[in-house]
Amino acid sequence: MTEIQKIKNYYETYLIDKIPQGGLFVAKMPTCTITAYRSGKVMFQGQTGEQEAEKWSSLTAPNSPVSKTNHARKKTNVPEGIASMSVIGSDEVGTGDYFGPITVVAAYVKKEHLQLVKELGVKDSKELNDTKICEIAKDLIKTIPYSLLILHNEKYNELQQQSRMSQGKMKALLHNKAILHVLNKIDPERPEAILIDQFAEKDVYYKHIQGQKMIQRENVYFSTKAEGIHLSVAAASIIARYAFLQQMEKLSKEAGFPIPKGAGSQVDVAAAKLIKTKGKDALPHFVKLHFANTEKALHMLN
Ligand code: MG
Repeated sequence: MTEIQKIKNYYETYLIDKIPQGGLFVAKMPTCTITAYRSGKVMFQGQTGEQEAEKWSSLTAPNSPVSKTNHARKKTNVPEGIASMSVIGSDEVGTGDYFGPITVVAAYVKKEHLQLVKELGVKDSKELNDTKICEIAKDLIKTIPYSLLILHNEKYNELQQQSRMSQGKMKALLHNKAILHVLNKIDPERPEAILIDQFAEKDVYYKHIQGQKMIQRENVYFSTKAEGIHLSVAAASIIARYAFLQQMEKLSKEAGFPIPKGAGSQVDVAAAKLIKTKGKDALPHFVKLHFANTEKALHMLN
């Protein structure tokens, strides 16, 4: 598979129909638009453009066709040899999906479990399809200590509308809580490091969780592409995706038709269908209301 094909697959649920001249595909996430051109160039634009581009760093070497924003690449200062340490890792799924909850998982993989976890098939979830993810997750949850938190959309919408809470803050609170749960579970054992798949700068993260019972600051590391740094983050990511898929299945049953992932035009159609059959009041249970998709769905019905 070509790298561009890999990128296309990865953002499959965000693909939109409007493609510029010379373009191969466009994926539109709430905070980033990815445009690939026939020339081999791929652009990542928007608030999280740099973060997304980071995921494809093999493409962003000098002279590579992928253009990145000009910001200097932030050095992640994870300790040397972290891959073979006992680490709690955390990651989340669902933040860019209109339908379905946000799922956050922290998972502990100690040194002695690294080999086993690898044998279960844990690796970067970008390389795994949904079927494989479910298979691996079912084994994982029986094997390692973890904490799964699900932020359902009723609560998400309430926090967003009534408390004007940003998604970043919600994520920080959830990661913090999930990590605390795992620390409690494994007590008196302590991890050598905590690795958070980065969604915010360290200072911003700690500002968000001010006033909360907080994880310690020592040995806590933030990094993009953390899935590739320690298996605990890859494991957390797989469990989070598994939980997300289960929730989507549940919502699909409630809706009476399959609910799409992502935030592309296919979710507008699904939302319109939902409003038609269940009424507008049913929406807050299913979707993240503040996404532009809500307007588009309502527009479709008029
Ligand atoms: Mg992540």
